Amino acid sequence: RVKERGRASFRFYQPQMNVDLLARMKIDHAMRQALPRGRFRLHYQPQLDMRGGKVIGAEALLRWSDDDLGEVSPGQFIPVAEESGFIVALGDWVLAEAVRQAAVWHAQGRELSVSINVSALQFQQANFVERVATAVAVSGLPPQRLELELTESILVQDADEAMLRLQALAALGVRLSIDDFGTGYSSLGYLKRFPIEKLKIDRSFVKGLPDDESDVGIVTAIVKLAKALRLQVIAEGVETEAQRRFLVDAGCDEFQGFLFSPAVASTAFEALLAVPARPLLLPEPAGAALP
Ligand code: C2E
Ligand code: MG
Ligand code: MG
Ligand code: MG
Repeated sequence: RVKERGRASFRFYQPQMNVDLLARMKIDHAMRQALPRGRFRLHYQPQLDMRGGKVIGAEALLRWSDDDLGEVSPGQFIPVAEESGFIVALGDWVLAEAVRQAAVWHAQGRELSVSINVSALQFQQANFVERVATAVAVSGLPPQRLELELTESILVQDADEAMLRLQALAALGVRLSIDDFGTGYSSLGYLKRFPIEKLKIDRSFVKGLPDDESDVGIVTAIVKLAKALRLQVIAEGVETEAQRRFLVDAGCDEFQGFLFSPAVASTAFEALLAVPARPLLLPEPAGAALP
């Protein structure tokens, strides 16, 4: 069965691989030069508590502006890095940099968690758990302040090995979430077995809220599933107040999206923290007194 899945996903990615091999080689070459030259940066997208409207976390997202290629989006370079294996070095840098920034914010007394995206190849490195442990230990960051966003693909490839690693990570105290939930191939059984604490509802399902019946059904079901399993649930890609309102009513705990802010540089992120929770972000019923 795993084989069949592998083949199906291979077929799925094939058109992309044919797109432009030369362009991909060029990106790969440029990335390998850009990393030691400090051309990658992390931007941080605020994550807010649905009810209080308070910023409670940040997702670290890679940004790269290249001398020749200009600004290259993660949608362009992450798949290339995953295919070439460069994602391991890049992911290591992201881990170190995000933990460094999180430790600074922690030392400033800010109550924030910082999440990073982890690629399958990175997770599969024999010493991945050690790398996380070392990064956290070196920084002095309380491990609960670091969240790893995993994709379903990580959990279906060699589930036994994945389980051991997830347990080791959970034992370290770092938090684990499933990114882009609902878009993968995995069975739901793993949610019961793996030490996952949070589901991130994929942006593609938030998009059609509150009118699209399929999106309404999918999002409602994911939130119910999360509650039944005592998992937290966050929605990504929230762009409108109508989407946010639907999510509040559905019982979703947190959100991130352009409604509040895109990912921004760390200094701009700090400025966002100074902004008091906006009335826009506070739940109604209309006219109800603020808590
Ligand atoms: P993701 O982890 O699902 O991150 C969310 C993406 O949605 C980000 O795109 C973010 O900028 C975008 N987004 C957030 N809110 C909104 C919104 O309201 N509307 C719209 N239209 N978009 C929104 P970005 O930064 O381009 O990253 C794309 C993907 O690249 C990420 O998806 C993640 O899978 C990958 N990625 C980014 N940084 C890293 C990294 O450090 N490591 C790895 N392995 N992957 C990364
Ligand atoms: Mg993510
Ligand atoms: Mg996501
Ligand atoms: Mg996504």
